[in-house]
Amino acid sequence: MGAAGIRDLQRVHPVPNTGFARAYLIEGDEGLMAVDVGSIGCAQDIADYIHHNLSRPVDDLRYITATHFHIDHIGGIGHLLSLSSPRTRVLFHAMIEDYLTGKKKISVIRNWFVSIPSATMVSARYLRRFSHLAVESLAGIPLPGLRGIVRLPFSTDRISYFGDADETDSSLGDFGFGEWNAVRTPGHTEDSLCFYNGRTAELISGDLIVNVSPDGTGEVNRFCWSRERIRASYEYLCGTINPARIYPGHGEVITGDARTLSQVRDVAHERKARSLSN
Ligand SMILES: [Zn+2]
Repeated sequence: MGAAGIRDLQRVHPVPNTGFARAYLIEGDEGLMAVDVGSIGCAQDIADYIHHNLSRPVDDLRYITATHFHIDHIGGIGHLLSLSSPRTRVLFHAMIEDYLTGKKKISVIRNWFVSIPSATMVSARYLRRFSHLAVESLAGIPLPGLRGIVRLPFSTDRISYFGDADETDSSLGDFGFGEWNAVRTPGHTEDSLCFYNGRTAELISGDLIVNVSPDGTGEVNRFCWSRERIRASYEYLCGTINPARIYPGHGEVITGDARTLSQVRDVAHERKARSLSN
């Protein structure tokens, strides 16, 4: 399929300049879905984008979801809910229910110093307003003393969960929003999800893949809960899907030919392979 054909099929709108993390809007026949609302300013940006760029009412927002339970991806969900219809639902990974009931704590991220500086520099380019730093709750900070904070500023009645907490299959299948599928991709966090549409060949990768280095091909995130699990999740995707566009958690959209996913670099894996061959 040529570039024009792919563009015709594109259903994901990267909302520009929403603060640290990227926010995406998916247009579907059933309405709209917002992915990753990291701050109060970001929530406002999404509402403005729906109104001005899509010429639709914010009430068309059917779902608000997050690729994972980190503050820079969830810190504005309540604000966006308050701007949307009372029927708008939040969709979370099933593990998040265990966080909210105190059954489980969010996992600690161990390697803060290997990748945070470059990722923060690139992500900071998308900050436009003070409200991009304003979060509505301190839930989702993966540090030992803070990871117990999970209170969200909206009722848990608004939340539905993907799949079951005890199941571990990667594919969660479609969830009633067009041809979009949810995939469990643990690694950056235990509760990480990707969203994939096989017909439009679009992948929303969350922080499994970030695009923060100059070559623009994206990289498997070095900032993670489990190095082995993030590698396995990346390999699972390489073996099962073939996206033409990858929408990362941080940085610009990754586009290319049919090998977009295999061109993503895994720097930690390359280093390990090199040290083994020496
Ligand atoms: Zn992030």
